[in-house]
Amino acid sequence: MRVCALDDIVPGTGVCALVGGEQIAVFRIDQEIHAIGNRDPFSGANVLSRGIVGDLKGELVVASPIYKQHFSLLTGRCVEDASARVPVYAARVEEGWVVVEPAKQVATTCCFCGVGCGVVVSVSRNEIISLKGDAGHPANFGRLCTKGASLHLPTDAGARLLYPELNGARASWDEALDHAAARFAKIIAEHGPDAVAFYISGQLLTEDYYVFNKLAKGLVGTNNVDTNSRLCMSSAVAGYKMSLGADAPPCAYEDIDAADLILIAGSNTAFAHPVVYRRIEDARAKNPDLKLVVIDPRATVTARAADLHLALKPGTDVPLFNAMLHFLFKEGLTKKEYIREKTQGLPSLKPLIDYWTPERAAEVCELPVEQIVQAARLFGTSGAALSLYCQGLNQSANGTFKNSALINLHLATGQIGRPGAGPFSLTGQPNAMGGREVGGMANLLSAHRDLASAQDRAEVAALWGVNSVPAAPGKTAVEMFEAIGRGEIKAVWIACTNPAQSMPDALAVRRALAGAEFVVVQEAFRDAETCDYAHVLLPAATWGEKEGTVTNSERRISRVRAAVPPPGEARPDWLIAADFARRLARRLGKNVSFDYASAEDVFREHRESTRGRDLDITGLSYAVLEREGPQQWPYPEGARAGRTRLYADGVFPTPSGRARFVATEYVPPAEAPDADYPLRLTTGRLRDQWHSMTRTGLDARLFSHSPEAEVNVHPQTLTGLGIADGNLVRVASRRGGMVMRVRASEDLRPGDAFVAMHWGGRFTGGAGTNALTVGAIDPHSKQPELKHAAVRLEPFEPKWRAVLAGFGSGAGKWLQRFDYASLTLAEAGQEALTSVELASAETPDAEALAALDALFGLDGAEAKLLHRYAKRGVEKRVRIERGVLTAFRLTGDLASAEHFRQAMLARSEVTEEGLLSAAPANAAGRAVCSCYGVREAEIRAAVAAGADLARLQKELRCGTSCGSCLPELKRLAA
Ligand code: SF4
Repeated sequence: MRVCALDDIVPGTGVCALVGGEQIAVFRIDQEIHAIGNRDPFSGANVLSRGIVGDLKGELVVASPIYKQHFSLLTGRCVEDASARVPVYAARVEEGWVVVEPAKQVATTCCFCGVGCGVVVSVSRNEIISLKGDAGHPANFGRLCTKGASLHLPTDAGARLLYPELNGARASWDEALDHAAARFAKIIAEHGPDAVAFYISGQLLTEDYYVFNKLAKGLVGTNNVDTNSRLCMSSAVAGYKMSLGADAPPCAYEDIDAADLILIAGSNTAFAHPVVYRRIEDARAKNPDLKLVVIDPRATVTARAADLHLALKPGTDVPLFNAMLHFLFKEGLTKKEYIREKTQGLPSLKPLIDYWTPERAAEVCELPVEQIVQAARLFGTSGAALSLYCQGLNQSANGTFKNSALINLHLATGQIGRPGAGPFSLTGQPNAMGGREVGGMANLLSAHRDLASAQDRAEVAALWGVNSVPAAPGKTAVEMFEAIGRGEIKAVWIACTNPAQSMPDALAVRRALAGAEFVVVQEAFRDAETCDYAHVLLPAATWGEKEGTVTNSERRISRVRAAVPPPGEARPDWLIAADFARRLARRLGKNVSFDYASAEDVFREHRESTRGRDLDITGLSYAVLEREGPQQWPYPEGARAGRTRLYADGVFPTPSGRARFVATEYVPPAEAPDADYPLRLTTGRLRDQWHSMTRTGLDARLFSHSPEAEVNVHPQTLTGLGIADGNLVRVASRRGGMVMRVRASEDLRPGDAFVAMHWGGRFTGGAGTNALTVGAIDPHSKQPELKHAAVRLEPFEPKWRAVLAGFGSGAGKWLQRFDYASLTLAEAGQEALTSVELASAETPDAEALAALDALFGLDGAEAKLLHRYAKRGVEKRVRIERGVLTAFRLTGDLASAEHFRQAMLARSEVTEEGLLSAAPANAAGRAVCSCYGVREAEIRAAVAAGADLARLQKELRCGTSCGSCLPELKRLAA
């Protein structure tokens, strides 16, 4: 809109304008116009239009008239604090008038976890300039966690895949897809449809999933379509189906507000589902009688906040739940009428209940009997008991029974189908639910239909206009990569997932991919480890660039909307799959329709497939979602709203209409510790990273909470091994190993070890965490046991060590040449500082080292060798530009590395003499509050000086933005 005449603004000054309801600061620099948000984020006042404009270190900025911060007029970034940014608006001069375009607001959904938070993004000049939580979205009511709140932050532009590639060379879409279709068609013709497979993702949108599923089962005629949701939710699916008859989480988030007892099993909710955890905190604050029981081998932030924490031996949840059931029956705390009228199968469970006394379970679980009894009593006496559970139950070779054993407790006490009660599986991924709804897995059919049912298969075939869909279950994730390794599956299409890093026994998976005849990878980010194995690489659109829907943990379907166009030639996933399918159909001589004009077209076809099913959404449309907002299923035609809670009538989707007690036998973890591998390794999530870090690993801010890979063990364990805290160790399992730093942690049980699941070969010197994990699978769900492996720690004595830092990207691909490598990012003004620590047991790989030097500009004439003492292998190499240190490599003597790093982060002026005599500096330590970069050391110092939570928030600002750090702040301030 026209704001004013250009001449109304004095050159070099600004004015404030109200555009689209927002206060915008408009500046005139000679004949040019710049527009940014008028609100100074530090003072909260609308004052920036009154700031002084000038050049700061080559950047055009405005100085806040209230505090000392400067904001770039081009990017909106704060020069002094990279965590702060003001929106930038498109502005121009037209016929002597100043024209400013209002930001476009687009409501969409966060692409990370299954909480499914609503997000409102502001778009200007085809760039997402800011975002906030959607106050109207019932999953989050405006809240976001650190990950969601960082979605708009710019990352390395070179990280995106922009063009199709064929055998490493740029190709057109036609060339790439025709080639892929020809290879798939040939393999299918020679070896049959089961010689090809599709491995897709719980992060795809429902529409993407739908097209892939139809492509595999309807066109190719194979059920070899599985997804990384197999690694995440399949035991929850199998547990629900076994116990309740359908894959349908019966609860809603609002049950948190109505519960008297919340039992969290196998979930560090405060880190994995932060917005749900904040709702739990609110519910506890409102209702002091609400009890929180946490079952977790680790004393996580979630567990430490509980009224009762059961730190059981990893993998022993089934004995614990069976013993709780024993106690409930023994004490008469069950609901006899509910059991009699609404359930079946209790007699089959009787021997197990009799066997698992609390005393016997206490021995197996390594828990005090009293804790088991207390947990059971709390469950049996609460008015409304809600259980929340996640990967601690699912990622286990006994995972389905872990789920069903917990559901048994709900059935025995009638704690289901009522407000505040029920077994509520927290979904890991943003759209694992949507994938299950379209049947996009090897053993599922569309709309919760059963692969084994001829009628269900016939219905799907009719919907798709094909003669039949295959009856035999396809290969599930672990089975699929084993079959690729054996050469049975010759071609695999991988979309939106990174199995070379995320699958258990990752080295075996990499060998399989390296030996596969034909691999297509459809991916948004170039550096995903799996891209290294692709014959055809296809650039996919990602969050903010594509349209569709997702379903969250509480069965709520939300719209995902495109706010900006995809970069380069990237395309939405459904569109790529449909284009390929049409080309393949021609070669196979089949007539299956993939003529979708839009994502909405795909949604309509999927919607029709749900008619009459338990998840019937025939009453939904994009228009309804637009008008009414996100909706829970079922939502059949004619409905006015979705169903908040299932099974309120006590009727279950089983043939008898009754829920089933399941005889949940205890099966110990597949790999028990022994003399060679004496520690129990469990894996889990970090607060600020997501999966294999293809996206979050590009954002420097998200490293501040957990900057590097480390293995945590109890101090006693470390003492027993004679290893010092902070040393490098090699963590080894029967399948592989990795070198990382060891940290003593009282959060672990003696004898247990913990490594975060996220670390892969771009951040460490190996295949990452999953080089250690085991591919054993649950017999019912086929979900692998990612949470339990036997490992040992060995001291690692490097012969050679180095630290490099600089502002280049792309270092990750060289790390695997070193025995130890740790790559981390830190915010340095407008840029991300990359630091790499390296170590080798022998002489380092010269080629890799030279490549890293070149990457950071340490190889040319502008680099300087400050010091060398060859006899001791000591070297200091630096690059200083205009008095500022911009890169360095220290070899041998690393004592001043932190000093150098801090000089780079501060952009302070340095001299060669000063660098040569630099004293060792202490690392700043991890940040607890990522939003404002508040370090643990600062918080501890403030608490020692008497600060409580309120004072910490007031004086340090920590915990006042997204709130993800509040559980840790409370713990530190306690
Ligand atoms: Fe995204 Fe965080 Fe919400 Fe999960 S809790 S959906 S990661 S904002």
